[in-house]
Amino acid sequence: MLLACGSAALALLLACVGFAWHSVDTLCDAKGRQLRDRAEIIAFQAGPALALRDAERGRQLLESLQADTTMIEARLYGNDRKTLATWGEQQSITAPVYSTKGYRFIGFSEVEAVRNVVVGSQRLGTIYLRANTSDLQQRLVDFAWIVGYVFVLAMLVVVLFATRLQRAISRPITELTKVAQEISINADYTIRVDGTAHAELKTLQDAFNHMLDRVQASEAAIQQAQNGLEDRVIARTQELSKEIRRRQEAQVELETAKEAAEAANRAKTEFLANMSHEIRTPLNGIMGFTEVLKNEETEISSEDRQDYLATIYRSGAQLVELINDILDVSKIEAGRFELDRVTCSPQQIITEVVSVLRVQAKEKGLQLEYKLASELPELIQSDPGRLRQLLMNLVGNAIKFTAEGTIRIVAGMIPSTPDQLQIEVSDTGIGIPREKLEVIFDPFSQADSSVTRRFGGTGLGLAISRKITEALGGRLTVQSEVGVGSVFRATIDTGSVIGQALIRTPDNSVPASASGHQSNIRFPGNRILIVDDGETNRKLIQLVLRRAGAEVSTASDGLQAIHITEEKKPELILMDMQMPVMDGYSATRELRSKGFKRPIIALTAHAMKGDEEKCLQAGCSGYLTKPVDSPQLLEIIARELNAIDGGTVVAPPVESSYSDASDTDAIYSTLPMDDDEFREIVVDFVDRMRDKLLEMRSVQSGNSFQRLAQLAHWLKGTGGTAGFAPLLIAAGKLEGAALAGNSAECSRHLSEIEQIAERIVVPRSAVR
Ligand code: ADP
Repeated sequence: MLLACGSAALALLLACVGFAWHSVDTLCDAKGRQLRDRAEIIAFQAGPALALRDAERGRQLLESLQADTTMIEARLYGNDRKTLATWGEQQSITAPVYSTKGYRFIGFSEVEAVRNVVVGSQRLGTIYLRANTSDLQQRLVDFAWIVGYVFVLAMLVVVLFATRLQRAISRPITELTKVAQEISINADYTIRVDGTAHAELKTLQDAFNHMLDRVQASEAAIQQAQNGLEDRVIARTQELSKEIRRRQEAQVELETAKEAAEAANRAKTEFLANMSHEIRTPLNGIMGFTEVLKNEETEISSEDRQDYLATIYRSGAQLVELINDILDVSKIEAGRFELDRVTCSPQQIITEVVSVLRVQAKEKGLQLEYKLASELPELIQSDPGRLRQLLMNLVGNAIKFTAEGTIRIVAGMIPSTPDQLQIEVSDTGIGIPREKLEVIFDPFSQADSSVTRRFGGTGLGLAISRKITEALGGRLTVQSEVGVGSVFRATIDTGSVIGQALIRTPDNSVPASASGHQSNIRFPGNRILIVDDGETNRKLIQLVLRRAGAEVSTASDGLQAIHITEEKKPELILMDMQMPVMDGYSATRELRSKGFKRPIIALTAHAMKGDEEKCLQAGCSGYLTKPVDSPQLLEIIARELNAIDGGTVVAPPVESSYSDASDTDAIYSTLPMDDDEFREIVVDFVDRMRDKLLEMRSVQSGNSFQRLAQLAHWLKGTGGTAGFAPLLIAAGKLEGAALAGNSAECSRHLSEIEQIAERIVVPRSAVR
C-alpha cells in the first residue's frame, strides 16, 4: 500500500509542480500583459496631453489609474525624456527600460510596463506604469490551495484504490504466505489455499495448490515407502534374529555334537584299550598255559595240569562272554535285541548265579547273600537266559567293585505293582560318583577309567543289563554313594502269577546244572541220532554224547536220517537244518508225517529269530545254535529226554563280529586239546578245511556261487564246532556274498578265511 500510495503521491506532486509552474508563468504573463495593455490605453489617451504639453491633463489621465488598487506609480514622459505628469509614489527616477514583451517584473513583487505614445506615426512621448503583484499573489495562493485540495483528494482516491488493490492482490498473497508457513511448521500437506482470488493470482493459487497436491502425494508416497521400509526392516530384523537364534542353536548343537563326538572318541579309545586288555589277558592265559602243556619235556603234575586246563577253560569262557556282550550291544544298536519268554523259575536262576559267583566272592573274602523280600512265585514268564545274564552282570560288578564286606541279593514281588519282580543287588564297594550314575548305562562308558584299569571291564555290561530289564518289561536303576556302596535295582515283568506256587525261603544250594563245563549229566543207554553233513560236527557231538553214556548213531543228510530212524528208533534226534540231498526241514517234516513223536532238536548256524520259527514250524521241539556248546547240549538233551517241561529250549545264539583278520596271532581251537579224541576231530577238520579252501578258491575264480555258498556254509558250521570262532564269522560272510553273487566280496572274504586258516595252530599231540 505504501508503495502504491507513495508512487501515486509522487506522480501527483510532479503533476502539481508542473501545473503550478505553468500557472505561475501564465498568471505572471497575464499580469504583465494586463499592465502593458493598460499602458497602451493610457498611451492612446495621452496623445493630446503630450501634444499639448498639458501636464494637468496628463495628471488627470494618470489619476484615472487609481481605481486599480495594484497601481503604484505612473509617469508620462515627453520626447525630450522629461516627465510631463506623474502619479503615485515616485520611486524610480531612472528612465524607463523597454522590454520586448512590453512589461518587466521587478523581483516578484512589482511589475512595470513602458509604452510609446504615438499619434499617427509620430512618437510623442512615453508612458510608464508600475504596479504591485498583490492580486497575482492572491491568485497564486488560491491556486496553491486548490492544488493542495486536489492533491489530498487524489491521495484519498489513491488510498481507496490501494486498499481495494490490496484486497485483490495482497490478501491472496498473504494467505499463500500463511499457508506456506503453516505447512512448513506443521508439515501438514492437506491444507489448501482458498480459491477466492482472480486472474493471475487465481492461477498462482491453483499452481500453489497443485504444487501442494504433488508434495502431498510425494509425501504420502515417501511415508508409504518409509512404512514399507520400516515393515521390511522389522521383518528383516525378525528374520535376522531368527537366523541368529537358529545359528546359535546350531552352534550349541554343533558344540554338543562336538563334545559328544569327542566323548565318543575318548570312549572309543578307552574302549579299545580296555578291549585289547580284556581280550589279551585271557588269550595270554590260554596261549601261555597251552604252551606249557604242549611242551613234552616239562614235567607237570596232574594237579597242575588240571589247574592249567581250568585256567585255559576260564579264559576261553571269558572270551566267549566278551564276544557275547559285543554281539548283544550290536544287536541292541541294530534294534534286533530279541527275547524269548518261557516259563522259568526265578529262584533257580538266582541260585545258579549265586553258586557260580560265590567262588569269586569267596576268593576276594566277600560274603554273598541271597534273601527274599517277599514270597516268590515258583514260575514266571520271562527269558531265563537274559535274566541270568542280567544277574551275572550285576552281581559280577558288585564283586568286582567291592574290596570287603557283603554282596546282597534280595528278590521279591513289588507289592504296589502287580506282576513285577524286583531283584536288588547291593554291595559295600567303592560306589559311583553322582554325575556318573546315568553315564554308566551307556555302552562303553565307565565311571572312571582309572578305576576301570584297576578293575578291568569293557563298560558294556550295564548297557546290556538295562536293555534286558527294559525288554523284560521293567527298569534298571541305581543308587550309590562313593565309598559306601551301590544298590542296583532290576525289575522285570513276570506275566500273570495267579495260582503259582509261592516260595518262602531262598535256595542257597549249588544246582547241578550250574557246575559249568564239568557236566555231570548222563543218559546211559539213550539212543540219539546225530544228523549233520559236517563230519567234524558229527564226530564232536558224537564224542560228547558217547561220553555222557548215550548210544549214538549218525547220518550225513536228511534221507539217511529217515532210514536210520526207521532202523534204530532213536529217542532223540539232533538235526542239522542245512544239508545236501535232503535238508533238516524236509527231513523233520517227513519224520513227523511218518509219526515220529520223539524230540527233534534243530541245529542251525543262523541265530536269528525267524530261523527258530522255521524250525518249530517244520516240527522241531527245540533248537540249538552252532557252534554247539557241550554243557548246554547235554542239558537240553537231558531235559528233552526226561520230558522236563520248559517249553522251547533256546540256547543263546553265539555269533561274533570278529574281524581282526590282520592280526597275526595264532588261532587255537577252543575245544579241549588235551583230550586226544577232541584233538583228533580238530586235526581232521583242519585237514579237510585245507582241501575245501583249495576248492573254494577254484570255484570262486570260476564264479560258481552256488557251490561256493555250500562250501562256506560247511565251513561256518564245522569251523565253529571245531572251536574256531573266527572261521565261523568269516565263512558266514562268504556265504552271504556267494548267495548274493558278489564276486569281489567273495574274493575278499575268501582271502580273509585263508589268512585265518594260516594262523590256525593245532597241537601235534595231546599233552598228558
Ligand atoms: P564294566 O564293569 O565292564 O566296566 P559295566 O557296564 O558293567 O562295565 O559298568 C560300567 C561302570 O559302572 C563300571 O566301569 C564301573 O565304573 C561302574 N559300576 C558298575 N557297577 C558298579 C558297582 N557295583 N560299584 C561301583 N561301580 C560300579
